Amino acid sequence: PLPGQCLVKNVCCIGAGYVGGPTAAMIALQNPQIMVTVVDKDPARIRKWNTKHLPIHEPGLHDIIRIVRDGSRESPFINERMHFASRNHEPLSIPARSPNLIFSTEVSRSISEADVILIAVNTPTKRRGLGAGSATDVTALEAVSREVAIHAKAGAIIVEKSTVPCRTADTIKTILHAHRPDVDFEILSNPEFLAEGTAMKDLLLPDRVIIGSSPTASGKRSAAALSSVYESWIPRSRIVTMNTWSAELSKLVANAILAQRISSINSISAICEATGADIDEVATGIGLDPRIGSKFLGAGVGFGGSCFKKDILSLTYLAESLGLPEVGDYWQQVLDINEWQRERFTRRIVRSFNGTLVGKKLTILGYAFKKDTQDTRESPSLECIKFLLEEVPSEIAIYDPCCNPATVTEELRRSIGAHVLKENGGPMEVYEDAYRACEGSHGVVIMTDADEFKTSPTPSLSKTTRETAIQDPRPFPHPEPTESEIFALQRYLSGTLAAH
Ligand code: NAD
Repeated sequence: PLPGQCLVKNVCCIGAGYVGGPTAAMIALQNPQIMVTVVDKDPARIRKWNTKHLPIHEPGLHDIIRIVRDGSRESPFINERMHFASRNHEPLSIPARSPNLIFSTEVSRSISEADVILIAVNTPTKRRGLGAGSATDVTALEAVSREVAIHAKAGAIIVEKSTVPCRTADTIKTILHAHRPDVDFEILSNPEFLAEGTAMKDLLLPDRVIIGSSPTASGKRSAAALSSVYESWIPRSRIVTMNTWSAELSKLVANAILAQRISSINSISAICEATGADIDEVATGIGLDPRIGSKFLGAGVGFGGSCFKKDILSLTYLAESLGLPEVGDYWQQVLDINEWQRERFTRRIVRSFNGTLVGKKLTILGYAFKKDTQDTRESPSLECIKFLLEEVPSEIAIYDPCCNPATVTEELRRSIGAHVLKENGGPMEVYEDAYRACEGSHGVVIMTDADEFKTSPTPSLSKTTRETAIQDPRPFPHPEPTESEIFALQRYLSGTLAAH
């Protein structure tokens, strides 16, 4: 395409999840001339996308959806936040436009109309059979490939947005070929690097967009067509083209290396606790080296979320199936340290109550896997709660600013059992506000760095007993706090944190 010329008129995104929904919304926002349809086999999810109560929480998403789905011209997020975020500091104006984003369950029809088909379905860790526990479950991807094979028009470009094992494009190609041997579809790899909680900002201002294609002329043409969709708002210099396998692998490696940094700093936090060195000071000391950089060096309770663990498992499985067990072992260590750190943290909570939680109320602030999302997949909180329950506390109160209490209650019922819920005589209760969750609590465990936790629990906590222990999962300055240290931690919450 000529510079500034977008050849794509119709995009279908299959999978209306954390990646599909926000990505489609940003493509629609930046390309008013493209009709974007997001389809999903889950009618309940699609119904939610068509209401005010979107199925996922992301800062700014709601405003953007109102523009592209409903034709609204008011956007506090675009005008106030993106204005500051945009690199040229120009406010983004919203000219009159027709809605160009649709959420639908009509999968086959949307596929048949599309020039570009984005596959953004889930690719979890395989649970059963060969490779269970580490291989990637590509069932959804295969099912979608079959639908695409049957319904896509000749010349449609198929794009892997999902995170997939290296060489998955071959699998898709085989499926397409089995159904449509007469058509030679191009399959691109365009992995998504957004992080939950900052998805819209990440999509608006990505560090890079990777497009992997086959080296043929047709592969390069397809990559250029997809690139033209992104060039509406992303400088060409940030769009990196490469071969398909490199693009697929880049995504797994990016997540593995981010997770590795967390495990690295967490392993050092244990040395700090034993020696009197301060992990925050060490992180500052090393992060100033531009070869290291300061990001992802916050020691804490370890990583959670749906991606890091699954992608490392996928990488270790890949290494092992390629006959490279040493490489697999190396990355497995990142996961082992993560689990060890989480256990260390929960043990420390029990130790700070002289080894027993009997008769104690604990409050868990933060249930999602991090701040600004309601996603609870692989949440460190849930793992800690399971561990703490073994110590028979009288109550575990949970509060998260983004999570719906009924949904969390349901999840606890599913993952631990109905018997742990207060309504059935168990210790667990999910609260709608932090104050009530903290009332009368003997210990407050802050699991995420949600802004609200820096201030709001303070007033009610300062009224609680002297015993209140504040466990902040980030630096662990005191391996075994004594009574006075626990008290000092309480002052820390009512003083330092309140001042933020
Ligand atoms: P998700 O579970 O939120 O969404 C996937 C959606 O696909 C679901 O709504 C599901 O119903 C739908 N789906 C599954 N099979 C389908 C089918 N046959 N037809 C139609 N719809 C179908 O998952 P997600 O978090 O959006 O992740 C999607 C992919 O993106 C994964 O591969 C993930 O690793 C990758 N990824 C996720 C993130 C993240 O932060 N969540 C970031 C980057 C990449």
